[in-house]
Amino acid sequence: MPRWVLALLRWFNTHRRAMPWRDAPSPYAVWISEMMLQQTQVETVIPYFDRFIARFPDVATLAEADQDAVLKLWEGLGYYSRARSLHRAAQAIVGQHKGLVPDRYETLLTLPGIGPYTAAAIASIAFDQATPSVDGNVLRVMSRFRGMRVDIKAAGVADDIRSYLSKRIPRSSPGDFNQALMELGALVCRPKNALCEQCPLRPSCKAAQQHAVSEIPLKVARAKVPHVDVLALVVLHRGRYLLVKRKETKMLGGLWEFPGGKREPGETLAAAAARTCREASGVTVVPVKKLGILNHAYSHFKITLHVFEAARTGGRIRGGGDYSSCEWVQPLALAQRAMPITARRVVNRWLRS
Ligand code: SF4
Repeated sequence: MPRWVLALLRWFNTHRRAMPWRDAPSPYAVWISEMMLQQTQVETVIPYFDRFIARFPDVATLAEADQDAVLKLWEGLGYYSRARSLHRAAQAIVGQHKGLVPDRYETLLTLPGIGPYTAAAIASIAFDQATPSVDGNVLRVMSRFRGMRVDIKAAGVADDIRSYLSKRIPRSSPGDFNQALMELGALVCRPKNALCEQCPLRPSCKAAQQHAVSEIPLKVARAKVPHVDVLALVVLHRGRYLLVKRKETKMLGGLWEFPGGKREPGETLAAAAARTCREASGVTVVPVKKLGILNHAYSHFKITLHVFEAARTGGRIRGGGDYSSCEWVQPLALAQRAMPITARRVVNRWLRS
């Protein structure tokens, strides 16, 4: 075993953070935690994980659940396709794998929502398979360790690092090795202000030896994130609010929100409000009051959400555009619907009296 691998495992043994899925690493718990941890920090995930496991303690319970219930428990965690995939994967596990999370990397890859990183993490942590899991943390640590002056998002870099690690991952403790590299990236080899003096890899680290830690990985200018103006209409009619459900295939699929949509170039906000409400829900409205704006950044674009209170003038509810269905919902039931963060902020800011 290379000396740096031994040093890394020793470091992990002492510094590993307590996490609920580490206490009793069942394949189910490892799978749920790895899905939640994609693009999301450990501290954010822990309460979501605890609530999810309490409600869906095993694959069968998850497979039988309504998608709405799964999305509701995911509300606020973002990247909702993970929750929809998790639900479909649970049904596939029950239908095709006798309810047991598959123990082979290749089989895991066939399940919805599981890519090379997640498959390797589950296979190594839950089943002791020696498959390196390479996420953003691992890419950063290893590009520095090996002195690779590259853009870690460039084609081939992840494969190169995966191949390098697959020759060095210890057969005796592959799960600990993968978790140790990720933990080191989160706690020590941080994007900014790496704590090299506390790092077990320092004696062999090329970036530290070459005083190039802040230059690796290469920083590449990304395209400017586009900005869009979006409308949301709060329509209260006969004591109920109008909500629309996003199509499965769309971003935020399966979540409920207030009808609306993007403003077209040159369109006034009032005209856009009336048009987007009609297109999304079939209901015609006149905006009566601007409640305010909310700003939100998604991974590939930013929005300014213009929130209007509007009065129904006619039309019949039906899904349209990005929406599959539409309902008039009692105020008390708003809390039970799974909503994107922006719609939940509308409820919390303007509809709670
Ligand atoms: S020595 Fe510094 S740059 Fe090298 S792996 Fe450790 S923290 Fe990262």
